[in-house]
Amino acid sequence: MSAQQTFVIVGGGLAGAKAAQTLRDEGFDGRVVLLGEEDVAPYERPPLSKDYLRGDAGRDAIWAQEEGWYDAHDVELRTGVHVAEVAPATSEVVLDGGERLAYDQLLLATGSAARRIPIPGAELQGVHVLRTVGDSDALREAFSPGARVVVIGAGWIGCEVAASARQRGAEVAMVAPEDVPLERVLGSEVGAVYREVHANQGVELVLGTGVEAIEGDGRATGVRTSGGRTLPADVVVLGVGAAPRLELAQAAGLRVEDGVLTDDRLRTSVPNIYAAGDIARAQHPILGETVRVEHWGTALEQGPAAARNMLGQNLAYEKIPYFFSDQYDVGMEYAGYAMTYDRVVFRGDPSTFEFVAFWMRGDRVAAGMNLNVWDVNEDIQALVRSGAAVDDDALRDPDVALGGLAVAT
Ligand SMILES: Cc1cc2nc3c(=O)[nH]c(=O)nc-3n(C[C@H](O)[C@H](O)[C@H](O)COP(=O)(O)OP(=O)(O)OC[C@H]3O[C@@H](n4cnc5c(N)ncnc54)[C@H](O)[C@@H]3O)c2cc1C
Repeated sequence: MSAQQTFVIVGGGLAGAKAAQTLRDEGFDGRVVLLGEEDVAPYERPPLSKDYLRGDAGRDAIWAQEEGWYDAHDVELRTGVHVAEVAPATSEVVLDGGERLAYDQLLLATGSAARRIPIPGAELQGVHVLRTVGDSDALREAFSPGARVVVIGAGWIGCEVAASARQRGAEVAMVAPEDVPLERVLGSEVGAVYREVHANQGVELVLGTGVEAIEGDGRATGVRTSGGRTLPADVVVLGVGAAPRLELAQAAGLRVEDGVLTDDRLRTSVPNIYAAGDIARAQHPILGETVRVEHWGTALEQGPAAARNMLGQNLAYEKIPYFFSDQYDVGMEYAGYAMTYDRVVFRGDPSTFEFVAFWMRGDRVAAGMNLNVWDVNEDIQALVRSGAAVDDDALRDPDVALGGLAVAT
C-alpha cells in the first residue's frame, strides 16, 4: 500500500475507532483521517446506561482507545467535525464549512441517533434521551434519590435506564405498549422474566399502554397514558429505540434500505465505500440473509473487518451477532438472529433467573441467550453457526454438553 493513500473514516464511534486501529495494526502507512462530530474522542456506549450512568465508572473507563493512541499511531482524529456530504464522483467528503477531503477508500460508520416520539410535551425540560456521554451525565444528575422517573419504552435502553435509576434510589415507572419488557426482541416468554426482574426491584410497570402526552409547563411534571392515567414525573426518559444515521449514504446515492446495503465484505454499492456498525445491513454468508443489528459486538468486529477489506484482504464478515445486557444482578448474553422463530426451548427454569433459552426455527437454533449462566455463549454461537439439526430434549437437558450438539446432525 502506498504512503500517499488517504483512508477516511466518517463516524467517531466504536466501529470507526477500531477500523483506524486495524489499519495501523495491519501495517497501512498512508494517511488515516477519523472524523467525528462529537466533541470527544470515540467511546463505548454500553456503560452509558449501566455503571457510568450509576456513577460506578468514570470517563476513563469508556474510551475506545487509550489516551495518546491517535497521535502515537499517526491517526488524524478530528472531533467536533460534521461531515455534510460524501461525493463519490470526485472521491471526496465535504465538511461543514466547505472543506473538501479526498479519499482513496472511505468507511461510513455513522451509527444511530436516539428516536424521539411526536407527542405533545416531548420538548419539555426534564425529558431526556440517551445516546451520548453528555446525555448520560445529564441523567445521572437527574436520578437523585427519591426523584420520580418515568421511562417511556421497555426495550434494552428503557430497561437498563430503569435499573440504573432504581439503583440510584429513584422511584421508577416504565410505560410501554407491549405486554412485557423486551417483547419485540425476546418474545413474551423471556420478556416475562424481565417483567419479574423489574417488578421485584420496585419498578412500577405500566404495560400494554401507550403514551398520549408529557404534561408540564416548561418542565415535565407527568406522563399521560392512553389509559387516561397521569404518572407523576420529575424526569422522563424516552427509551423508544434508535434510528440509523443514513443521511450521508442516501444523499451520496448508495443503496439503502433500513441500513446501508453491503455485500459480505462490507462493501457498499459504490466503489471504495464501505459501511460498518449500526448503519450496515450486510449480507451474512452463514445466516443467508442481510443482517443489521445495533450491537456493541458488531461495531467492535465490523470496523476491523471493513478496514481489512479496504486494504484488499477480501474477507467475508461471518461473525454471529452477539449482544449483552446487565440489569441489577441479572446479566445476559444473546447470540444469533431470530427475526422469526417457531418456539422457545428452555434449559433451566426461567423462574430461577438462571437459564439458557433457545429460539428455534424448525429443528435449528436461530438464537440463544444465557441469563446468569456463564461460559456457554461460545457454544451457543457454534450451534447457530453450524445450522445443525438439534433435538429439543437435548437442548433442555443440562447434562448434554451444548458444545457437542453443534456437530451432531
Ligand atoms: C446507552 C447505550 C447502551 C448500549 N448498551 C449496549 C449493550 O449493553 N450491549 C450491546 O451490544 N450494545 C449496546 N449498545 C449499542 C452499541 O453501543 C452500538 O451498537 C454501537 O455504539 C454502535 O457503534 P457505531 O460505531 O456503529 O456507532 P456510534 O457509536 O453511534 O458512533 C457513530 C458516531 O458517528 C458520528 N456521526 C454520525 N454522523 C456523522 C457525520 N455526518 N459527521 C461526523 N460524525 C458523524 C456520531 O456522532 C457518533 O459519534 C448501547 C447503546 C447505547 C446508546
